[in-house]
Amino acid sequence: MSRRLAQGPADAPRPEAGTPVRAVVALGANLGDRAGTIVAALANLARLPLTEVAASADPIESVAVTLDGPDAAAPAYLNTVALLNTRLAPSVLLAYLHAIELHHGRERRERWGDRTLDLDLIAYGDVRSDAPDLTVPHPRAAERDFVLEPWLRVDPDAVLPGVGRVADLLAGLRAGEDA
Ligand code: ATP
Ligand code: CA
Ligand code: CA
Repeated sequence: MSRRLAQGPADAPRPEAGTPVRAVVALGANLGDRAGTIVAALANLARLPLTEVAASADPIESVAVTLDGPDAAAPAYLNTVALLNTRLAPSVLLAYLHAIELHHGRERRERWGDRTLDLDLIAYGDVRSDAPDLTVPHPRAAERDFVLEPWLRVDPDAVLPGVGRVADLLAGLRAGEDA
């Protein structure tokens, strides 16, 4: 007899037992020992249950984006992307990401403020959800070269579900910057 799998939050279908899902996590840090925090956070991800880190990109540096736009006077970010194979439900994975942020001293003050560590769930398989507490794909990923560039480096065939190929999105962003 088959058992109906419980629906997770955001009505995201849970992965079937034994079938890992590819999740894409963006890491960013602009306070403290940025490189050390990124390395430690990648190790934290690798120790999550039911999860392996398949790849992570070399970190890149990017100008901080605040509510007023790019701010070259603010501490710059180190950004990278990790590809996970996971059997955690998306809500559980996101809760773990928040716990790792807290472990590294993340404080939430103003939106897009400086932070020791930010972990965003960019994509979880092909799941699409617009629930405020779990929006996938991440709604601003397509416009962020600091997400697309490291992602493309570790997966040249990457696709942002429902949006398009990461290579094309990045090329479009770059063309817009040059225009
Ligand atoms: P942005 O989302 O534009 O990158 P941010 O990372 O600074 O901004 P946060 O303060 O870290 O924003 O997160 C805001 C809220 O978004 C959190 O409450 C978090 O639970 C929620 N959230 C919803 N979907 C996601 C997701 N896919 N990844 C990370 N956080 C998410
Ligand atoms: Ca973010
Ligand atoms: Ca975040």
